[in-house]
Amino acid sequence: MSKYEAVIGLEIHAELMTNSKMFCGCRVVDSVEAPPNTAVCPVCLGMPGMLPVVNAQAVEYALRVALALNCTINLHNVFARKNYFYPDLPKSYQISQYERPLGIKGWLDIELENGETKRIGIRRVHMEEDTGKLTHLDGGGSLVDYNRSSVPLLEIVSEPDIRSGEEARAYATRIRQILRYLGVNSGDMEKGVFRVEPNISIRPVGTAAFGTRTELKNLNSFRVLADGTDYELVRQAAVLDAGRQVVQETRGWHEGRRETFSQRIKEEAEDYRYLPDPDLPPLHLDATWVEEVRAALPELPQAKLARYRADFGLSAYDAAVLTEDRTVAEWFETAVSIPPHLNPKTIANWVINELFRLMNESKQSIDDIRVSPAGLVELIGLVEKQTINNNTGKEVLAEMFASGQSGTAVVEAKGLAQISDEAALAATIKQILADNAAMVERYMNGEAKLRGFFMGQVMQATQGKANPKLVNQLLGQALNQAEK
Ligand code: ADP
Ligand code: MG
Ligand code: ZN
Repeated sequence: MSKYEAVIGLEIHAELMTNSKMFCGCRVVDSVEAPPNTAVCPVCLGMPGMLPVVNAQAVEYALRVALALNCTINLHNVFARKNYFYPDLPKSYQISQYERPLGIKGWLDIELENGETKRIGIRRVHMEEDTGKLTHLDGGGSLVDYNRSSVPLLEIVSEPDIRSGEEARAYATRIRQILRYLGVNSGDMEKGVFRVEPNISIRPVGTAAFGTRTELKNLNSFRVLADGTDYELVRQAAVLDAGRQVVQETRGWHEGRRETFSQRIKEEAEDYRYLPDPDLPPLHLDATWVEEVRAALPELPQAKLARYRADFGLSAYDAAVLTEDRTVAEWFETAVSIPPHLNPKTIANWVINELFRLMNESKQSIDDIRVSPAGLVELIGLVEKQTINNNTGKEVLAEMFASGQSGTAVVEAKGLAQISDEAALAATIKQILADNAAMVERYMNGEAKLRGFFMGQVMQATQGKANPKLVNQLLGQALNQAEK
């Protein structure tokens, strides 16, 4: 590969999580779970004479994305018919945008493994509709489910600025995270609601002209995106090195053989005969509304991460982990905002080390758990006031997680509060020293490490509930006295 440079551009298709479809009132249903062809009507079945009506919620969702990706917004939008015949498309054309897409000339910064930031250009963000879903039967014949037909779909097309499988993965991961932050897409690649298609070519290092590209389709994870892209780069280099030419085509990924294979020879845009859709008048967006949508955008993950580092003093790793998911980030921020305003780093440690472990073990998401931000803050407070020690705190959190009880209730019910009663502890210590006179003698004669033995005896006598700091202090006093 070293004498070639990779040139990669990504097309990302994301279904929008609206209530209804793009051009009719049908519900958007789970394309895996809903019975086939139960969310359909004459419009999304492509019956002649039916008129499409644009879904305003879909336009707003699409606009959020175009704005978040720093696009210039076209106020004057045109819908076009992309003509092709395939049974997943009952109208024989897909309504899309061609000449005047919603957003153009955007960009997204991605972080590379060497810590540097790279800006990837975004050519366009446009609205379209999804197609139905075909299932090819083993014995021949196919089934078609039109539940997905006309579900609002967003296409995000990057400039060919990407240079490796790893960069493709970083870009696609970031886009998915932003869509989830914006509340417009679940990011579920297995279900096909978020689909990434890399266009891949290579050129000799130092040259400017693009080589012939191939496009990879049906990649169902980010790992496959990175691996499939890298495989394709190596394959194309071997083709050129052998003096042959790369064929412009669509290729799939064979997971078992871990290689790409030819699916079909690629169409050119002219083949689709894009035409403005006569049933849909151009869509004019109100500039004031666009600014309202911009102002209502949530804080995006990269800005949040930078703020966590600057304001909360978190490490890059902790900030990244906590901002990965918006709901987690907001849960954490709520905890930080609750009086007495504990150190954000302390809260971050409890969330990352303890809460995430409990969530992983029980396969629960932040939405499912019974511990609230206030509950965690209260628990950490018990540790900081030394009502319980750190280890007990972890056990209490596990119990809170399992039962939904408050930390205070768990501590009370299980009698976990540390013994901080000086008189009682002093009496216990006195008794222990009296019972171990020989050990005390040896300690006096210079075996300093026996102090740990006495400490252990006290903890044992109090079932681990003695306040260790206090025991340490009282033990010191008692041994001093014995010495005199
Ligand atoms: P289409 O695939 O519909 O023909 P475009 O030609 O606009 O659309 O390109 C789709 C994607 O392919 C874009 O992300 C673009 O950056 C990328 N691309 C275009 N030409 C090349 C190339 N020679 N090598 C790699 N990527 C390319
Ligand atoms: Mg394409
Ligand atoms: Zn419908």
